[in-house]
Amino acid sequence: MKCYECSKNGKDSDTVAICIVCGRGVCRDHLVREDTPVWEGEYGIKLKCGMGVECKYEDVQHMKKVLCIPCHEALKENY
Ligand SMILES: [Zn+2]
Ligand SMILES: [Zn+2]
Repeated sequence: MKCYECSKNGKDSDTVAICIVCGRGVCRDHLVREDTPVWEGEYGIKLKCGMGVECKYEDVQHMKKVLCIPCHEALKENY
């Protein structure tokens, strides 16, 4: 699979990870690895914990996953 962000810019990079929100492949330059709160729902912008609800440590650990840049931006706006 090729990186979605790179292909928009006419480049051809192999993906190293898959975004957990949209399922697009991303290369090393375009992935965002961040500790996100646990999400609920298919596209995950609704937070199950983290907004006044305590996150269990294991839950947070479990959700250390990779996002693409557009999804990361969208998530930050919802924090
Ligand atoms: Zn890329
Ligand atoms: Zn994404």
